[in-house]
Amino acid sequence: MRSRVSEPAHKFGRSFTHLRPQKSATMQLSATVKKLAPSATIAAAAKAKELKSKGIKVHEFTLGEPDFITPEHIRQAAKEAMDAGHTHYTPSGGTLELKKAVRDAFERETGVSYDPSQVLVSNGAKHSIHNVLTAMCGPGDEVIIPAPYWVSYSALVELTGATPVIVDTSEESGFCLSAEQFEEAITDKTRLLMLNNPCNPTGAAYTIAGLEALARVAVNRGIPVLSDEIYDKLIYEGSEFKSFASLGEDVAKLTIVVNGVSKAYAMTGWRIGWTLAPTDLTKAMDNLQSQETSNPCSVSQCAAVVALNGPQECVADMLVAFSKRREYVLGRLAEIPNISLATPGGAFYAFFNVSHYFGKPLGSGKVVENASDFCTALLEDAHVALVTGDAFGAPGYVRLSFATNLDNLKAGFDALQGFLNP
Ligand SMILES: *Cc1c(COP(=O)(O)O)cnc(C)c1O
Repeated sequence: MRSRVSEPAHKFGRSFTHLRPQKSATMQLSATVKKLAPSATIAAAAKAKELKSKGIKVHEFTLGEPDFITPEHIRQAAKEAMDAGHTHYTPSGGTLELKKAVRDAFERETGVSYDPSQVLVSNGAKHSIHNVLTAMCGPGDEVIIPAPYWVSYSALVELTGATPVIVDTSEESGFCLSAEQFEEAITDKTRLLMLNNPCNPTGAAYTIAGLEALARVAVNRGIPVLSDEIYDKLIYEGSEFKSFASLGEDVAKLTIVVNGVSKAYAMTGWRIGWTLAPTDLTKAMDNLQSQETSNPCSVSQCAAVVALNGPQECVADMLVAFSKRREYVLGRLAEIPNISLATPGGAFYAFFNVSHYFGKPLGSGKVVENASDFCTALLEDAHVALVTGDAFGAPGYVRLSFATNLDNLKAGFDALQGFLNP
């Protein structure tokens, strides 16, 4: 409900000296933001940067983004868009041209057709996820999140006042949620399952049979699924990918596909993501976005159209590079005794268990008891930057991003091995 306070009649004749802030005045922070921690991956990268600024060579493996520059033809499209005057507001939910490009690309890849009115373009997929959660959830609601999970999932759920229900998956299962686990986590307060396939931080890529089993539960119990498919173009040999929305018409009705250009086209800085979702939800999210942010960057939208409609060799070339790096990383990890991991089938992360090394002297003699302290000691002593699994709801693990070149990986693994076997 709104309340309205009328201005007092004497307001305009009055001096404003009484508005001078008092020395003791402080800004009150809301309960919501007081609970919020900064994104742990961004914090880890900042710590590495701090060392670098002191002139220290850091082996940086925290980055959650491709190291490649955005392909030339996409950059060119942005320059042309600026010169052609695409510098104004666009419709709040994105241009029709980009919505059609998203729709067409999805149809090409999955055979499933959406109407452009079911596409909402936002300021990156993270913003898309915020829109979905804000439009669907509130206090008293529950959202199921399989762990390990992307850092922002639980924070974004909590921002809405809803409760994240964290379901641990095991290394033995390849860090995949089973249908039984999904079923068991459902209550009458469940509003959504948040699925990330392939997964950041684990690289887990679900089998199609595994997805179908989850889809059956979703349909039987009427639980909507947010399917974050941002790594769908980064699938390695031996793994498969299928969009959750392509598992059947009844499944599509319950699915919100989240995707974007950040990972597939090396366009993290451009901030373009989207949802494919039922029309009513899309409309509600568009209303929200029109009040909160208006349209995503007009120039970025033009570039994203070209990314989706243009030649796709750049995507394949980057996948080849990532495959080589993954092979190298898996080889080096296999040489390290007493760590374990589930082989990543997608994305560009290796997520491995280092708990064997807790309680024993490492590097310059430090003894650590958890993954956060492990990462701090590793950074300080060996100048290798990883992200602690604690940030992803997985104590005992660390995440290594292999979105960096082979020379960096080699030097980093040499330093890591020296740290583990001083
Ligand atoms: C990188 C990433 C995103 C989104 O990135 P945007 O740059 O906001 O589009 C979404 N989900 C996961 C799991 C990611 O790793």
